[in-house]
Amino acid sequence: MRKKIVAGNWKMNNNLSETIALIEEIKQIIQPDNKVEVIIAPPFTNLNKAVELLKNFPVTVAAQNMHYADKGAYTGEISADMLLSIGVQTVILGHSERRIYYNETDQSLKEKALQAYKKNMTNIFCVGEKLSDRQAEKHFEIVENQLKNALFQLPVQAYKKIVIAYEPVWAIGTGETASPEQAQEMHAHIRQILAKKYGQDLARNVRILYGGSVKPANAGEIFAQPDVDGGLIGGASLNANDFNAIIEAAKS
Ligand code: PEP
Repeated sequence: MRKKIVAGNWKMNNNLSETIALIEEIKQIIQPDNKVEVIIAPPFTNLNKAVELLKNFPVTVAAQNMHYADKGAYTGEISADMLLSIGVQTVILGHSERRIYYNETDQSLKEKALQAYKKNMTNIFCVGEKLSDRQAEKHFEIVENQLKNALFQLPVQAYKKIVIAYEPVWAIGTGETASPEQAQEMHAHIRQILAKKYGQDLARNVRILYGGSVKPANAGEIFAQPDVDGGLIGGASLNANDFNAIIEAAKS
């Protein structure tokens, strides 16, 4: 039985005082239980504070990115060790905004995924096709290549700490959501790809999140799909009530 995950990607939102306020609100509203794992990914500058505020509360703090090297002359970058040193053990890798605006490639993501594995970090690895890929009916192939190119270097045991997030680019921040059937179809495809490479057992156990304009109104039907194990939530994670409603939808 795969435990559901609801992860909030705050992106470049919330300064320190806004971060404190939102986390305090989340702590007031959210009813933790063992059916759903909750994660939030504030910006780098607020990770330390977030970890401190959530010390005795079952919400995990994640980073939105990290570098593949241990350390060195990489101005502006953050390493795995820096994250681990403040208690952050989870990282989102390969988000489409990073692929699009910061030229992250399968090659650099392969190195980042390897670093996450070496450092024993949980890697929420994002894949997803652009609208033009879907229109050209290349979406299955695109996602398969993203997975193969960045993750297939890793051994079976790495997948204990890998969560895949299927995020069709055309559904991120657009208000446009994949239908529950489209989400299910791609999630099942991802499981098949994993099964072919690593076996059915692993494929059955990896959690696959859906991301792309998930809101309280559509979370329930998306999460009800058999291969959807929760969501990676952008915009709606910035509002404690909406985030909580999505978490509640994942419980039922
Ligand atoms: C995201 O950025 O991962 C995301 C899914 O954003 P939104 O929910 O705003 O579409």
